[in-house]
Formats: sequence, C-alpha cells, structure tokens
Amino acid sequence: MTEVERHGYDVVVIGAGGAGLRAVIEARQRGLRVAVVCKSLFGKAHTVMAEGGCAASMGNANANDNWQVHFRDTMRGGKFLNNWRMAELHAKEAPERVWELETYGALFDRTPDGRISQRNFGGHTYPRLAHVGDRTGLELIRTMQQKIVSLQQEDFAEHGDHEANLKVFAECTITELVKKDGRIAGAFGYWRESGRFVLFEAPAVVLATGGIGKSFKVTSNSWEYTGDGHALALRAGAKLINMEFVQFHPTGMVWPPSVKGILVTEGVRGDGGVLKNADGERFMFSYVPDVFKGQYADSEEEADRWYTDPDNNRRTPDLLPRDEVARAINTEVKEGRGSPHGGVFLDIASRLSAEEIKRKLPSMYHQFKELADVDITREPMEVGPTCHYVMGGIEVDPDTAASSVPGLFAAGECSGGMHGSNRLGGNSLSDLLVFGRRAGLGAASYVESLGQRPAVAESAVEAAARAALAPFDPPAEGAGENPYTLHMELQQTMNDLVGIIRRAEEIEQALERLTEIRKRARDVTVEGHRQFNPGWHLAIDLRNMIVVSECVAKAALMRTESRGGHTRDDYPQLDSAWRNRLLACSVAANSPADAAIPDVTVDVRQQEPMRPDLLELFELEELQKYYTDEELAAHPARQE
Ligand code: FAD
Repeated sequence: MTEVERHGYDVVVIGAGGAGLRAVIEARQRGLRVAVVCKSLFGKAHTVMAEGGCAASMGNANANDNWQVHFRDTMRGGKFLNNWRMAELHAKEAPERVWELETYGALFDRTPDGRISQRNFGGHTYPRLAHVGDRTGLELIRTMQQKIVSLQQEDFAEHGDHEANLKVFAECTITELVKKDGRIAGAFGYWRESGRFVLFEAPAVVLATGGIGKSFKVTSNSWEYTGDGHALALRAGAKLINMEFVQFHPTGMVWPPSVKGILVTEGVRGDGGVLKNADGERFMFSYVPDVFKGQYADSEEEADRWYTDPDNNRRTPDLLPRDEVARAINTEVKEGRGSPHGGVFLDIASRLSAEEIKRKLPSMYHQFKELADVDITREPMEVGPTCHYVMGGIEVDPDTAASSVPGLFAAGECSGGMHGSNRLGGNSLSDLLVFGRRAGLGAASYVESLGQRPAVAESAVEAAARAALAPFDPPAEGAGENPYTLHMELQQTMNDLVGIIRRAEEIEQALERLTEIRKRARDVTVEGHRQFNPGWHLAIDLRNMIVVSECVAKAALMRTESRGGHTRDDYPQLDSAWRNRLLACSVAANSPADAAIPDVTVDVRQQEPMRPDLLELFELEELQKYYTDEELAAHPARQE
C-alpha cells in the first residue's frame, strides 16, 4: 500500500495565480475551509509576469467609457465567437473587482486628480487598463496574498491557528482528480521536493492552472504552463472548447535558446523600433491587409514622420495588430529572409541615440544585455512570434464557473469561452478577478447544497499513485524514452505544424507525429528516485502536454476558416457559417477509462444565440460582417 499524506477540505483550489487566489478569498469568506495548491512557490505564479494592466471600464481617463463599450470591444476582439454572457459579466463586474483590490491594499498608478490611472491598449476604445507601472500582475498577486494573510490572522484570533480555514500547499503538483459516482471527491498529487504523495479529500475543486504554452517551442509562458488543468478536466470528463485558438505575440526573443520566446514589449515599436528582414528591407509595408488599407503609412518617409507628427501622417505598419505582424514575420522567415536564428530584426539602434534607448526602454536594454549579450543601442534585436495565450479551455457555466462534472469548477486562462477567438490585452487580469470570484462562489454554493459528501475510494488513490510512478518502470524491451527528447519533439511539431499559420496537410502531419509521440510516451523512463527529480516531473507533465496538443491540432484541422488566433492558409477568410459553431473536445468513448493520455474526440456544437438586448448594442451593419442573415433575423432593426 502506497504511503499517502491526507488532508480534508471543503474546497481545493489548484493554482495560486490571479484566478486561484481570488477564488480562495471568496470561498473562505463564505465560511468554508479552503486549500490552495500550486506547483511553483507561492507568489511565483505566471500572473506576476503580466505587465500592461487590467482592463476595466472605470471611466477614469475618459468618462465616455462604460461596460457596454467594453463588452463591444471584447466581442469584436474575439470576432464574435466569445461566450457573450461571460463577456457581459466581465465587462459589468471588472470595475468593481479593481476597486475591491484597492480595499485589499493595491497601489495603482494615479491620474493627476488622484484616481486610478488607465492606459491605452490595442482594441480598447478608451484608455482602460488599470496598472502599476509595467508590473501590474505582481501587484495583483502581492495584494491578494496580503488579503489571504489577513484572513489567516482573523483565523488565528478566533481559533489560535493561522491555517484553521485556509492553507497554502506550495510546490505541490496535482496529477489526478479523484471522482466518486461521477462527482468530484478530491485531488491527488505529489510534493515536488520529496516526491511523496498527497491526497486532498474535498467535494469541490477549482482549477486555476493557467495556460498551455510549454507545448510550443517558442513561448512567452512560464514553466508552469503545461496544460495540467486542461488535461485534468478532460480526463475527469469535462469538455474543452475553442482549443484551436492560440494567441501568438509578434515579438519574442529568439536567441539564445535558453530565453527563446521571452516577450519584447510592443513599446519598442511604439518608440520608433522597426522590423527588418535579412535584406534590410522594412517588410511590414508589404503586409497591410485590405481591411486596414488607407489607415497605415505606405512609405517609410510618412511612417517616420508619424512618430513626431501623428496628426498629419498615418501610423507605421510596424504597429499593425498583433496577429497581422506575427503572420508577416512568420512569412518572411518561411520564405528565407529571416535572421540567423530564425526570426527577423527589430532595429532601434539606428533610430534612437543610445541615451534615449536606455531612458525609454531600460528593461529591454537590460533584458538583451543580460540574457543575450546584445547591446540594443548598437545592434538590432532578433525577434519572432511567440506563443503567448490560449483562448481555449474548460467549458464552464458563465455565472457559476461550474464545468459539466459535478464539483469541478474552473477560472482564468485554463477556462474557455470568455475571449472567443482572440483575447484583448488587459482582459486576462480582469477575467481572473471576475471569474475567480465567481468560481469561489460557485464552489461554495455547491458544497453548501450537498447532502452527503462523496468519499474517495482507495482503489482510485492506488491507481493515481501507480500512474504517477509509471515512469520509473523501464519498458519490457529497449532502453525507454527520454522525457526531454519527447518534449522537444512535441514542441517542434506544434511550433512548425500547428503554429501561427496552419494548413490541412501540415496539421495532418502533426497529428501523425503526435500519435507517434503518444505511443513513445508510454515508454518514458526516468532515472533516480522521487526526491526532487525534474525528469520525473516532466514525464508526468508531458502526458498533459500531449493530450492538450492533440486537442489544439484536431480542432485546428476541423475549423476550415481563419478567425482571430486561428489562421488557415488554405481557408484564409472568416466564414459566417462558422461564427456560432464551437468545437468541443472530450475523451473518446472508446478510450480506456484509466488512460494517462486518452484519445480525444471533437464535436461541433452551436453557440447559444446572443440575447436581443445585447445584440442591439451593435449596429446591424457591423454584425452583418460576422453573422449569417438567418441569425440576424432576431435583431431589433430587422423587426422594424
Ligand atoms: P497563473 O497565474 O499562471 O497561475 C497558475 C497556477 O497554477 C500557478 O500557481 C501554478 O503553479 C499552478 N499550477 C499549474 N498546474 C498545476 C498542477 N498540476 N498542480 C498544482 N498547481 C498547478 N494579461 C493581462 O490581462 N494584462 C497584461 O498586461 C498581461 N501581460 C502579460 C505578460 C506576459 C509576459 C505574459 C506571458 C502574459 C501576460 N498576460 C497579461 C496574460 C496573463 O498574465 C495570464 O493569462 C494570467 O496571469 C493567467 O492567470 P491564471 O490565474 O489563470 O494562471
């Protein structure tokens, strides 16, 4: 019998990023006993990397802003594929969530008259991002940790135990959700340091595990982004939607390999940096799409004048929306005009003095100096698209964050629907606060409504332990597969064949390779023992990355149109017939119940039509670009 440490809670939140912490606070404030489990150190979640800010229509910088404008911007950004109810709740509740953070002690930058400062960002009609310099995510996490400490102090005063009602389990990875009679009964995992197993018995679990970027070779995402929550939910019987939509930021570092994908801020281009190919050509002038023709400069001279005289000149195409720039860079590299390390050049050195560069872009100067030994005041940077965010995730009820599995809830980047086919910058941090809170509430209400709690079966614990230990058993024949090699092959496959530009033959090729990788993954073998063993940790995470990659590839093959974060070279147009169709991934009926990497099936499903009062917020003319005539029959303007 395997030795397993056991804990009992009302709600277990997996993930200590923005979404997880907000859920913890809410469930604890409802009087429940809550555990928060995270695989990194507490305070080190990916959310701390968020820079630009948190979108909320507080109207501080422009009084015309309100939830309706934010709702419209979000739907437009997602190309009308968003779950409209989530977009509505998000737009309505985000301001309240930001103000509430202030009551927890957040110190936002201020306007001259003392209100929370809000900055401009792509796709937002008005300056809307509440921010703390360029480290907003860090402040968000710091503040919520502080709130958690204050709740623990209340518990100490009442019970003499800081951890009576809320406990943090850091550096602890969850590998399996445990169910009983179809309902959540707990979560099983291991301590990263000791490798010892731990079981959380709880009737409600909130997944807040973030994204999937580590399935791609080049990503801005942190090491935690192995799609654990996505895979845990799928294996537990929940559905993943919109998995074909992955956002690529145009400028990540491409060299050296150890830092590949780290974000290079859009501010470099905003301050005068230009993109060039290996021939020294400013190639973005050749990539202005028809919908933007006339809005961007068509000569280098005009583009250069725009920086100092924006009223009388059109802006440089270097500042086209992210997806356009990312696609252009990708084409240049594929057609052989890339930089030595597979990107293009971003040149600020020949445009600004060394002094100006260091003053305007101090962190970029340090980032390249420290990490790449490149002095950006003298040489161009090498940059390329980097996998940045996944729009797809666990399908949830918009109001309660409940998945289709009783007792399982999800919030933040691991959930799906809110952002449709493309997320606007700043809308993630607000998403975490709005839906993190709703997930905490949803889980609390569920627990309160329960009669008898489902008990964990010993057989389920034994099975979870066996699955976790499998990588220590060498295959009957041969040497076994190395998890690092397989991970690299997976990342290369996803980057090359299901990356920023996709076509059927390449995705099919990717699926063949994924089938091969999945087979070889069964023979993954690791050396050593359970005490801090990164090879073993990767072997376990790899299963999640493989299954999530299959979801992305299968859905990408099925969606025969281009929309937001999904670009099909062979179907380059937006197709109205696809707008209300969702692709939902689930475990295939014939897949063995205990498969670590289950077979995935993808079903097409219709979106629920938008409520007429929300539909009415848009001009009929605009909707006609996205909707079919049939769908618009309900629009009030058509009823007149
Ligand atoms: P995270 O913050 O990633 O937290 C996930 C948690 O889950 C972690 O604690 C992790 O340890 C834990 N976890 C994962 N798997 C397991 C497991 N198996 N067991 C236990 N624990 C697990 N968005 C904005 O809105 N504005 C911005 O300005 C912005 N800037 C960004 C800048 C960068 C460089 C990047 C990469 C992203 C940026 N984003 C921004 C996006 C935003 O930061 C993320 O989408 C968001 O922080 C995700 O938060 P989360 O709470 O869902 O997950």
